[in-house]
Amino acid sequence: MKIEAIDLFYVALPEIKRAADGTQDSFLVRVRADNGMYGWGEADASPLASLAVYVAPMSHSNIININEALLGEKVDSPDDVRRLRAKAGAYGLDFEQIDHAVAAVDIALWDLVGKYLNEPVYRLLGYKKTYPKLPYASVLFGDTPAETRKIARGLKDRGFSAAKFGWGPMGKVSLENDVALVAAAREGLGQHPELMIDCGVVWGQDDGAAYERAVRFADSRITWMEEPLHPDAVDAYRRLKDRKPPVRIAAGEGCDFYRSADDLMMNGGIDFVQIDVGRIGGITVTDQVCRRADQLGVTFVNHTFKSHLQLAASIHVHAGIEKFRYLEYPAGDSPLILGLTSPTGLPVNRKGLVDCPDKPGLGVDVNLDTVRRYQRKVRIEIDGKLLFASPDP
Ligand SMILES: [Mg+2]
Repeated sequence: MKIEAIDLFYVALPEIKRAADGTQDSFLVRVRADNGMYGWGEADASPLASLAVYVAPMSHSNIININEALLGEKVDSPDDVRRLRAKAGAYGLDFEQIDHAVAAVDIALWDLVGKYLNEPVYRLLGYKKTYPKLPYASVLFGDTPAETRKIARGLKDRGFSAAKFGWGPMGKVSLENDVALVAAAREGLGQHPELMIDCGVVWGQDDGAAYERAVRFADSRITWMEEPLHPDAVDAYRRLKDRKPPVRIAAGEGCDFYRSADDLMMNGGIDFVQIDVGRIGGITVTDQVCRRADQLGVTFVNHTFKSHLQLAASIHVHAGIEKFRYLEYPAGDSPLILGLTSPTGLPVNRKGLVDCPDKPGLGVDVNLDTVRRYQRKVRIEIDGKLLFASPDP
C-alpha cells in the first residue's frame, strides 16, 4: 500500500472547563491508503499544536512536517510502520511537539497495517494470545470528601472492582484534607475494590511531603500512589523510594520519549510505569517501554484519559503479558470517551475484565457522526494562501 492521505481532525466539546480532564477535546488522524483501506489514531496533546506538526512550513532540515515525511510512502508491514515512525521523528527532530503529534499517525499506521494483514495489532507486536485486564475507573476527586464518597459509591454501583481518584483538591488544602479525601474514596468503594490515588504532581520536588501522605494513605489500603512528584523529579522519586514508603509508587504518564520512561524506572525506582500511547510517540515506542519494564521488574500500566480508540491502542501493547494486569479505563461522561468509537468501545465483560479486541487492526471503528458533531473546522492561511482546511469526516 501507499499512503495517499493523512486526514487531521480537531474535535472538542462546546465548552472547555479548567479541570484536569483530557476528555474535553482530541486530535484524531485518519491515514488512507491507495487501496481504499484506512487506519485511525489519536494523540493526547493540544489538538491545534499537534495539527501544526503535520502542516507547518519547513524551518530547516530538522523541522519538516509529518505529512512531508509520510505521504506517498509504502506501508505493508510492522517494519514499515517502525521505519516510518523513525522517519517522521528524524524529519521533525526539532519540533518540540513531535512525539505527541506523531503518536496519532503511528497508531493509525498500526491499525491500517493490521487491517491489511488481517491481524490484530497485538499479533503484529509478536504476541500469540492476550490476557484480559482489570479495568480501573479513572475519575477526579470531588471538591470535598463527601462528594468524593458519593462518586466512589456510584462507581461501586456500576460494578467496578478498581477505581482511581486523582487531582482536584489533593495537596491543595492540608494534610488532613488529603487523608480525608482518600478515606472517603475507600468508604464509598467499600472494602473489596482496589483503590489507586493520583496526586497530580502536586508536591513537586518535595519527597518529604509525599512520604508523609504515603504513610497516612496506607491506612486506606491503596494499590499505588501516583505522581506525588513532578514528572521530571527523578532524584526526588529516588529519595522517596529510599525512605521506604508503605505504598507502591506509580508515575510515567508525562514521559514523552523512551529514555524518559527508562530514567524513571532505572533511577527513580518507581514500581509502576504508566505510559500514554498518545503522548510518548505511539504504539511503536510504548511497545519498547513495555518490554523494558518487563526486563526491569517494573509493572507496566497504560495511561489513558481519552476515547476508547486510544484505549484500544493501549491495550494491544500490554495485552500479551499476563502479569501486567491493570487497564486505566476512562469512566467519565464526556461523549468523546465512548461516543468516538462505534458502537460502544471496549466493554467490561461479565467477569468485570476487559478483553483485547481480536479483530484486525485495533479492532474498533470511529463513529463518524460523533466526529462530525464535535469537529472544529480549522483553516490556516499564510499570506492569504491556504495551508490547511479541515476535511469532512
Ligand atoms: Mg495520572
